[in-house]
Amino acid sequence: MTLKAFSYRFYPTPEQESLLRRTMGCVRLVYNRALAVRTEAWYQEQKRVGGTETSSMLTSWKKTEELNFLNEVSSVPLQQCLRHLQTAYTNFFDGRAKYPNFKKKRNGGSAEFTKSAFRFKYGQVYLAKCAAPLPIRWSRTLPEGATPSTITVKLAPSGRWSVSLLVDVEIEALPQTDSQIGIDLGITSLLALSTGEKIANPKGFTAKYRKLRRAQKALSRKQKGSNNRHKARLKVAKVHQSIADARKDNLHKLTTRLVRENQTIAVEDLAVKNLVKNRRLALAISDASWGELVRQLEYKCDWYGRTLIKIDRWFPSSKRCGNCGHIVDELPLNVREWDCPNCGSHHDRDLNAAKNILAAGLAVSVCGATVRPEQSKSVRAGAKTLKRKKQKPK
Ligand SMILES: [Zn+2]
Repeated sequence: MTLKAFSYRFYPTPEQESLLRRTMGCVRLVYNRALAVRTEAWYQEQKRVGGTETSSMLTSWKKTEELNFLNEVSSVPLQQCLRHLQTAYTNFFDGRAKYPNFKKKRNGGSAEFTKSAFRFKYGQVYLAKCAAPLPIRWSRTLPEGATPSTITVKLAPSGRWSVSLLVDVEIEALPQTDSQIGIDLGITSLLALSTGEKIANPKGFTAKYRKLRRAQKALSRKQKGSNNRHKARLKVAKVHQSIADARKDNLHKLTTRLVRENQTIAVEDLAVKNLVKNRRLALAISDASWGELVRQLEYKCDWYGRTLIKIDRWFPSSKRCGNCGHIVDELPLNVREWDCPNCGSHHDRDLNAAKNILAAGLAVSVCGATVRPEQSKSVRAGAKTLKRKKQKPK
C-alpha cells in the first residue's frame, strides 16, 4: 500500500471561510510563537527545546486569557503545526534545510486535520466544528473504498482554496522494459535526453513571464499599505500561481512519461546542478523545478518498479566526450556544439551530457562504483562553494 495525495479545489461557504481563516491564523500564531521560544532558547542559552515541551506550552497558552481564542478552533491543526516545526528543526540540524522561518499572513496558510478532526461520510468531507460538508469540486474520483487518513486545507497567496486528501492505495508496478535514459538540464531547452530528444517548455511560458514582470512593476509603484497595493499584490500572486500550475502540469506529464517508457533513469543531483549551471541561462527550469522533477521521478519510480540513479558526485558530464572519454579543459556556457580534439566526434553540448549521465549511472548500478571525476582539481574548487553558509536567526 502506498500513501497518495489527491488534491481538489473547493469553494468554502462564508461561515467555513471565516472558521478556516481563523484556524489558519491560530496555526500561524502557534507556529511563530513556538519558533520564537525555541530560537531564543537556542541562541541565548544553547538549550534545545523539544517537541513535547512545545506541546505542553501550547496547552498553557490556551489557558491564558490573552490566547483564550485558540480554543475556538480545532486543536488538531495546532498540534500538527508543532509537529511540522519539529520536522523543520530536524531538517535544519541534519543539514538538509535552512533555519525555519516565521509564517506570514500574506503567504496564505494551511491546516492539517488528522482522523480525529474530520469525518468522511458518503464521499463528503466534514471538518471539526463545521456543520456543512466542504464544497469540493471532485475533479477526479477517489479510488473505490478509500478513506483519507489526513486532510490538509490550503489557502494559496492568490486566494485559492484547495484540499488534499491522503489515501492509502494499491499501485501496480508497470511491466518491465529494456529502455534506459539519462537526463540533463538543457541550456537551450528544458531537458535533454540521452536518446537525442530535447524537451521544450510548455507553450506560452515566456508570455506568462512577461505578464509577471508587468504585474511586479505595477506593484512596486503602489503606495505602501494602500488598498491598491493589496490589489496589485493579489495580481502578482495570481500570475505566479498560473506559472506554477503550468509548470507543475508539465512536469507531471513529463515524469509520468519518462517513468512509463524507461526501466532505468539517471539524473544529476541538485547540488551538482547548482554549481555547474548558470541560472540566468536556464530560466526554463529553476533550481526548485529541478528538485521537484527529481522528487517526482523518485516516487514514481518507486511506485512503478523502476530504478532511479542519482549521480551525486562531481562528474564532468558536459566536458567529457561521450565517445572516447576525453575531457576538455574548458567549455563555456555559450558553446552549444563542439568537436572532440581527441577523436574528432561532433557533439551537441546538452545531448552529450545526457549520454554521459546515463553511462555514469549505469556504471554505478552495475558495479556499485563511485562516480569520480578524473580531474581532482575541480573537485576541490567546487567543494569550497558547496559549504553551507552560517545562518542567523531571523
Ligand atoms: Zn572524443
